[in-house]
Amino acid sequence: MNREAVDQLVAGISETAALLKRSIKIMEVCGTHTVSLFRSGVKSLLPQNVEMLSGPGCPVCVTSQGYIDAACDLAVREGVVVCTYGDMVRVPGKGGSLESRRARGANVQVVYSVRDALKMASDNPKRKYVFLAIGFETTAPATAAAVMEADRLGLKNFFVMTAHKLVVPAMELLLAAGEVPIDGFLCPGHVSVVIGADAYLPVVERYHKPCVVAGFEPRTMLEGIACLLHQIAAGECKLENVYSVAVEGQGNTIARRLLQEVFVTAPARWRAMGELPASGQVLADKYARFDALNHFGLSIEADYDPPGCLCGDVIQGKSHPDQCHHFGRRCTPMRPIGPCMVSSEGTCAAWYKYNR
Ligand code: SF4
Repeated sequence: MNREAVDQLVAGISETAALLKRSIKIMEVCGTHTVSLFRSGVKSLLPQNVEMLSGPGCPVCVTSQGYIDAACDLAVREGVVVCTYGDMVRVPGKGGSLESRRARGANVQVVYSVRDALKMASDNPKRKYVFLAIGFETTAPATAAAVMEADRLGLKNFFVMTAHKLVVPAMELLLAAGEVPIDGFLCPGHVSVVIGADAYLPVVERYHKPCVVAGFEPRTMLEGIACLLHQIAAGECKLENVYSVAVEGQGNTIARRLLQEVFVTAPARWRAMGELPASGQVLADKYARFDALNHFGLSIEADYDPPGCLCGDVIQGKSHPDQCHHFGRRCTPMRPIGPCMVSSEGTCAAWYKYNR
């Protein structure tokens, strides 16, 4: 993107923001936007009265502490291998993280995708492989495809511990709670590729909040913010999509069909937000035999934040990381206390890296 185009967009944003004469709070729903806004410098180009709030869209950060503890318990069982993404192994649980359990002999494998876990299960029938299926509609189709493949192969040693979550219900529940003033949403391009831009219509129609779908390049983020400010200044509330090169109104029908085949919508536990209705995806009855919670008789205990950790507030846009007493002192990326400092998409990690 050339400098002139950036300058024009930034100038337009500044002009509109000046007209508004008040503080505007825009929530970027997902962790990828949080990091991209910092890394690209877009955040530093915004006028003082335009504040970006991080929302509940970092997969690791929204995963409940009880889920982490259950995964740690599973990893020490004989013959069980827990497979997960790199960030997840560093989230501290009650008795340490998956990483620390691994150092004490637990079976924890870092994988790049669920297919790695599936292959290990297929190659080693004497061990049971459990994939920690976290994330939103971006990662859930891959989990669904792996479960269908495991079914086709007749695997009896592959399981998923589902904590997949849905983006739009989380946005609606934040608005329904009314604790955080939000003027509009910058909606995540990657999730929107799957669910489609139209999925945000309930947020617009029921809660009268502007939504703009944007990608992760500086230009589309600036365009998205500019569109939101224009709508707010004009007293409008509509759904716009500045990432139409990748996002269609109805989303990716193949991915959505996979999700419908394998999962059903169910209540889900979110860090600090408790159990939210219709905000998660669990395996449909047809695939219930792949459910790790059922197979191993696991239960997810009540959620909690580590003492003094504000991750629960950070993921809801109620607090900025620097309002946490531990930020940059006891809690750093090298020695994280909460998931928001662990994850590469975590708000605390982004603030530590780009905003200290
Ligand atoms: Fe939690 Fe650390 Fe962030 Fe504080 S700085 S909210 S302890 S992750």
